[in-house]
Amino acid sequence: MEKPRFKVIIIGGSIAGLTLAHCLELANVDFIVLEKHHDLLATIGGSVGLMPNGYRILDQLGIYHQLQGVACPIRLSALGAHSTAIDRNSDGVSVFTDSRTRFNGDLVVGADGVHSVTRSQMWHVANSVDAGLVTEKEMHVLRAEYVCLFGISRPVDGINPGDQIISCYDNKSILVFPSKDASIGWALIKKLDRGYILPDSALLSNAEVQTMGQAAADLTIYRDVRFRDLWIRTPRYSTTLLQEGLLDTWHYGRIVCVGDSVSKMTPNIAQGANTAIEGAAALANIVRKISRMPEISEDHMNNLLQGYAQNQRKRLRVLHAISRSATRTHTRRNWMTKFIGRYVYPYTPNAASRTFGKIIVEAPFLDYVPLQALCRDGWETPSESPGITQITIICVVLIIIVAYAVSFSLRARSSGI
Ligand SMILES: Cc1cc2nc3c(=O)[nH]c(=O)nc-3n(C[C@H](O)[C@H](O)[C@H](O)COP(=O)(O)OP(=O)(O)OC[C@H]3O[C@@H](n4cnc5c(N)ncnc54)[C@H](O)[C@@H]3O)c2cc1C
Repeated sequence: MEKPRFKVIIIGGSIAGLTLAHCLELANVDFIVLEKHHDLLATIGGSVGLMPNGYRILDQLGIYHQLQGVACPIRLSALGAHSTAIDRNSDGVSVFTDSRTRFNGDLVVGADGVHSVTRSQMWHVANSVDAGLVTEKEMHVLRAEYVCLFGISRPVDGINPGDQIISCYDNKSILVFPSKDASIGWALIKKLDRGYILPDSALLSNAEVQTMGQAAADLTIYRDVRFRDLWIRTPRYSTTLLQEGLLDTWHYGRIVCVGDSVSKMTPNIAQGANTAIEGAAALANIVRKISRMPEISEDHMNNLLQGYAQNQRKRLRVLHAISRSATRTHTRRNWMTKFIGRYVYPYTPNAASRTFGKIIVEAPFLDYVPLQALCRDGWETPSESPGITQITIICVVLIIIVAYAVSFSLRARSSGI
């Protein structure tokens, strides 16, 4: 009898879930996407900037050029399917939705974002088999110290496609990224009075959102352009808490997670969606391999999925550190970040872009689809030769030490020590 085809149940039909669906389609692996919303294209008024690590994979999928607002058809998906429970059985896994529909498959992928149900179910299964495997500490690692008001404004004179602007203020920053059609994606990020640990959350009332927008109205974006100019041209906006955190457990048995469900960053370095895309591609490479094996033991499958989780997690550690530091520098969190933002960043643009470029170049991509023309040139690993980076880093460290020593001695003198 012919072996049944390997089937993946993807929970969540946003960036990570739909990218994985497209990757599996190309790999000829069966899948179903369960999405709780009824409309896959429903917009909440935000925009996402694509970086080379993300668009290289979208280009492999053949959808990069179609992305200007065009929906890409997915073979099989269930909309309005809010997944609530996952059950392991002798043949694989089943996912149940709130309408009590049951979906059977060989592997469940949680692409269901920061409030992931899949992640909670995975923790539950893991701890019921290996008590204490997922610690309380890990379960509370996602923490929000910032809130974000975001939207898309109609074009504003003085801000042009291709600009990318970050305006830094004490405890606030404004990110502005215009699209090709001159509409302008923006995000106003504000430090909260306290940290919120998931599932603890803070919903802003309408009045608070208005106050947040009004309070920023006079802030300068660029030259004569003020935040007010974007705010009054934005028909729809939303708010969200910006949780941050990189989880340790991405996989257990036949449940595996991808995207924001296990790796949540602020938008400051525009890597949440891009790394969700690369994670989906890395996972698709493994799933394709598994699906093509005539037989595979649970141990072998575990090792392969664990390999995906470990490699991707290791890679993202650096990006998380950069993202946290960028968020705090952009919001001038303390004297050190103010100093770095004012005197270090502007004079060391190459150091940052070289470090970032190297991380991007090393991103995974689909190993079963040739790279397209768009992604073949300019992807060399940056050469190590000029040594400017090391010199710059040494100078920066020396400047910080001197500044710290000066500030310490001034404080000591004023407190009479
Ligand atoms: C203002 C703002 C700007 C940003 N800009 C950028 C940027 O420029 N570049 C970048 O790389 N990143 C950016 N990000 C981050 C990016 O949006 C996220 O990293 C990305 O959306 C994560 O994708 P995801 O598919 O993992 O999760 P999500 O986008 O959160 O999607 C999860 C999906 O799962 C569904 N779902 C949830 N629970 C269930 C369930 N139980 N059953 C079924 N379906 C379920 C949800 O409805 C949703 O469709 C930005 C974020 C914000 C807030």
